[in-house]
Amino acid sequence: MNGIERLKENLNEQQLEAVTETEGFVRVIAGAGSGKTKALTQRYVYIVEALGINSSNILCVTFTNKASQEMRKRVKKLVGENSDLSYITTYHGFCVRVLREDINKIKYPKNFIIMDVEDQKTVLRQVYNELGLTSKVFTFKQVLRYISKQKTSQEYLQYILESKKKETDNEIEKVFIRYLEKQQRNFALDFDDLLNFALYIFVNNPDVLEKWQKRLHYIQVDETQDSSQKQFMLIEMLSQFHKNLFVVGDPDQTIYEWRGAKPEILVDFDKQFTDSKTIIMNQNYRSTPNILSLGNHIIKNNKIRVDKDMFTQNPEGVEVVHFHGENDYEEGLWVANEIKRLIADENCKHSDFAILYRANHISRSIEQSLIRENIPYSVFGGIRFFERKEIKDVLAYLRLIEFEDDFSFLRVVNTPSRGLGKKFIENVAKIAEKENISLYSALQQNISQKDLSRKGAIEFIELIEKYKKAKTDLIISDLVKEIMDESGLSAYYRTDGDTDRLDNIKELQNSIILLETQDEEQINLTEYLQEIALYTDMDIEDDRNDRVKLMTIHTSKGLEFPYVFLCGFTEGVIPSAMSIKERRAKALEEERRLTYVAITRAEKAFYMTESEGFNFSTGLNKYPSRFLFEISDNYFVRKGELSQEIINEAKKQLKLDASRQLIQKKFDVGDLVNHFIWKQGKVIEVNEEKGEYQIEFIETGKTKPINFEFRGLTKIEK
Ligand code: ATP
Ligand code: MG
Repeated sequence: MNGIERLKENLNEQQLEAVTETEGFVRVIAGAGSGKTKALTQRYVYIVEALGINSSNILCVTFTNKASQEMRKRVKKLVGENSDLSYITTYHGFCVRVLREDINKIKYPKNFIIMDVEDQKTVLRQVYNELGLTSKVFTFKQVLRYISKQKTSQEYLQYILESKKKETDNEIEKVFIRYLEKQQRNFALDFDDLLNFALYIFVNNPDVLEKWQKRLHYIQVDETQDSSQKQFMLIEMLSQFHKNLFVVGDPDQTIYEWRGAKPEILVDFDKQFTDSKTIIMNQNYRSTPNILSLGNHIIKNNKIRVDKDMFTQNPEGVEVVHFHGENDYEEGLWVANEIKRLIADENCKHSDFAILYRANHISRSIEQSLIRENIPYSVFGGIRFFERKEIKDVLAYLRLIEFEDDFSFLRVVNTPSRGLGKKFIENVAKIAEKENISLYSALQQNISQKDLSRKGAIEFIELIEKYKKAKTDLIISDLVKEIMDESGLSAYYRTDGDTDRLDNIKELQNSIILLETQDEEQINLTEYLQEIALYTDMDIEDDRNDRVKLMTIHTSKGLEFPYVFLCGFTEGVIPSAMSIKERRAKALEEERRLTYVAITRAEKAFYMTESEGFNFSTGLNKYPSRFLFEISDNYFVRKGELSQEIINEAKKQLKLDASRQLIQKKFDVGDLVNHFIWKQGKVIEVNEEKGEYQIEFIETGKTKPINFEFRGLTKIEK
């Protein structure tokens, strides 16, 4: 067998066609696990090896950094170490390459800064300070969303690249403009800018565009269903010279419509490129028939889709399992035990398991169980729950009250700020050293000393002393609440604008309440902190690679794992509370596709788990996801007891939800209205999908979202 024959090995007929049809516009539409990515990777190698094209002339766009790393690894094995594989990359990665080479065209230096979300928040903090804003007006999340939305259009580039000035009275727009000014001054680009800047350079510099067009002889795009209009515009521009474009995707796996994904690009590819070729792949190589048919069964409920006819020759395998727990503790424990059982029985490794969830906070109960059961794990694309800053801050207060340790002291003495700077801490440290006592004791015993008796320090000592006395009379959840309020930590995180942090703290309180209601004997603070210490300080000694993988469904895109658990399969989590509130079919269909993506990651076994309890985001009792009730009983077996009562309650809620009529708008953009508290306002946006107006109130100068159904609004006739 010669080298080229070997390249065609292990491919089915359609994959072979995809690999060898290298010229012109070619599209592959196929379901999950049908070998699209495999064909795309193999095609890349074929172009290099069989056609003799240099890898630096092929652009291969993948959806995530992880996917491109994996593809590079695979390609490297086949084409050798010395090839330049840097054009196997993401849209962002490619734009950075373009900018690094050509950003001087817009008078930016080549060593421009790329900002991550934390950097963006740092800028916002500065802007809030300057404008005297607090997050009561807008949270960072709202502002970042606003900024990102503004950046879907390229208009803002005039203000940073063409020195156009903009005046405004609108508060959020003021924040945006200041944000842009700071970006420009620092030559800093956020993620949205990368694509916009690259497009701007191409559109305004035909010579630069031509250079890139000529360089990229072949272009391939994976996961095309999640490309946005602008991303695809870039690809289309680049492919205009050589006209060799290969796109693959699965419209049923579109999970980024909320961020601008346009599955139509893939679906209507043949209309845009009339001489294009389409290849369909129907065989699934990834999953057992049970998993595959569950996926097909669920996705069939989406109305806006083209049905596919998938089959597999893989062996039957085990049944899909649904586990219902009495609370999230039981859910986590069941998952941990199932992992242990499989490792013992099936001779598999920790790294064969993935635990997927819709929302980050779901990981808390799972992580606790894994730690308790000594199962090594890593959280992908996120921070472990108990390592989050805000969680550590809260726990540090508790620890200081209980243990007076120096670590906790240093963490909280000036969090939130009490004006106790470095010099002050040094003075305390000197006394502590001399007298061989803890930092806390040093401060407490010498608080009347001249250089220590600051207002902030006195209040801090009073606070800690108060709760040292009160702790025996308070249950831990109340203690947390009172300390959060009195220390100023609540206010600090509220004004900080980062509402994720408050959500995480709520989740911590939630877990303590659960612990308190579960244990017959009240757990005391020492016991609690010792248990928690295991979660915070424990670094499980193990080979880093052999770990259970925890990640959101979004992160799991394109990946596969032998065993997959979808945890928190709860109404209000998936589908998300937001998508339910929006009450539109499209949002729910995206949630169903997310479920489909989760299911189709699994090779050998798939589990869906959920539990009872209280859902803080809906303010209702938890009950199983509506998608669970869409699955006929013969598709899975049930473990744990799901009472008829809960099933009835869940179905009743669903009916209630469905019967709520879509409420019609009463006002249009430009209408003047009277609000019974905020008085006169002007409708500046009508969002029919969300059932919400944006109204700018004249007296306060603030813009607020108001529901269609709100009755306290009347129209002022002009
Ligand atoms: P997704 O839509 O989830 O991204 P995909 O269509 O990209 O899925 P791949 O990840 O390429 O699917 O392939 C799924 C699995 O099937 C991989 O483990 C791959 O190696 C295997 N596979 C694909 N094609 C074949 C084949 N012809 N013979 C054997 N195994 C195959
Ligand atoms: Mg793929």
